Amino acid sequence: MDKSSIIFTCILFFALGLFSYNLWKIVRNIRLGKSKNRFDQPLKRTKILLKIAFGQTKLFARPASGILHALVYWGFLVITIGTVEMMVDGIFSLDRSFGVLGSFYDMATASGDVMAVLVLVSCLIFMFRRLFLKIKRLSGKEMKKASSIDAIIALVIIMFLMISLLTMNIGYIGLHPENYFGSFPISNFLYSFIANWDAQSMEILHDISWWTHIMLVLIFLNELPYSKHFHVVMSIPNVYFSNIENLGKMDNMPSVTKEVKLMMDPNADPYATPAADASSPESFGAKDVTDLNWVQLMNAYSCTECGRCTSECPANQTGKLLSPRKIMMDTRQRMKEVGKNIDKHGKDYTDNKSLLNDYISTEELWACTTCNACTQACPLNIDPLSIIVDLRRHLVMEQSFAPTELNMMFNNIENNGAPWQFPAADRLKWKDE
Ligand code: SF4
Ligand code: SF4
Repeated sequence: MDKSSIIFTCILFFALGLFSYNLWKIVRNIRLGKSKNRFDQPLKRTKILLKIAFGQTKLFARPASGILHALVYWGFLVITIGTVEMMVDGIFSLDRSFGVLGSFYDMATASGDVMAVLVLVSCLIFMFRRLFLKIKRLSGKEMKKASSIDAIIALVIIMFLMISLLTMNIGYIGLHPENYFGSFPISNFLYSFIANWDAQSMEILHDISWWTHIMLVLIFLNELPYSKHFHVVMSIPNVYFSNIENLGKMDNMPSVTKEVKLMMDPNADPYATPAADASSPESFGAKDVTDLNWVQLMNAYSCTECGRCTSECPANQTGKLLSPRKIMMDTRQRMKEVGKNIDKHGKDYTDNKSLLNDYISTEELWACTTCNACTQACPLNIDPLSIIVDLRRHLVMEQSFAPTELNMMFNNIENNGAPWQFPAADRLKWKDE
């Protein structure tokens, strides 16, 4: 190991260690959620994962931005192979160690080289759109300046990543013009403009580009846990564990379902002693993030703030306060706050705040039509509606707090067995007319 590989190894392990520490904190926060079985039907889930996460199919509903985003994502997947190679090279003082893979290496480097340009062009278009075009979907009361700065920082880092990748390849070709590993269609073309540089200049170009690229990778990796771009990491588990039932199907609460079944069963003994294992839930619905399940919390960490959900939301379109993107951002914000409280004061600490009311108002919740358009539109299968429903359940079942119209309907159901104001005995009266 020479001096530079020792320095590189120390930096790499520090960066990976820091990332793992922040990742552990996020996983700990997600595990604050209640249990939820999403480990069923692995084959169906894998198919959905390939189609939606890797295929990026839901993004193509808006073809222009969808294709650009997909190019950036696929480009990253291809270029990651080169990043792993750089880490191996850096630790063991090697040069293009994966070159032994032969034609697979040629294919991977050629795709990476082309993808670098496509990603660069896509990022330039995204940057232009963010700075100079007023896209309604990217604005909204929940979109603070920090969101925009976060997006711009990520775009700048990705652009420099691609530029340094290309200049590194050019420098590599320049150092071994006759016998280099891999295939670099774009870098080869660009190399022709500086082919007359001497070996020392090529070495400087290569080394500066190599260090710039790998340092940017490590900086970007450690920026991810603080950024909405964490979806790069979360999109895969989030899509795999997403809801694969029909969208309109809501989760029943087992304890309530049991009570209703007893009510509807004419043979049931209303005074029967409850079974020994019968346990009633601590509370109904959700008041804070710890009442939500782990999938809902993972959803919040996966949200890209793209606003596709909000732009499809009929309540939002008609000027109501509700924005499903805000529901996800608020949930993530509250979860981070709870996590920080645990770090500072231990897990039993309470700050007397909650997701309901302190972050999400009842006006927002009751504006929802439960139409599922947000869930349908989300490119990562995030489900804002399930959080809205759980918060509403808490309002109704724990606080008896619901709009007057709903309270009237609840009374009717309780008294008449139907949402209308007519007694059950009058149901067949229509036939007399
Ligand atoms: S389910 Fe609710 S939040 Fe989602 S789009 Fe429909 S109205 Fe909006
Ligand atoms: S929930 Fe989905 S559609 Fe809505 S902002 Fe987040 S990622 Fe975009």
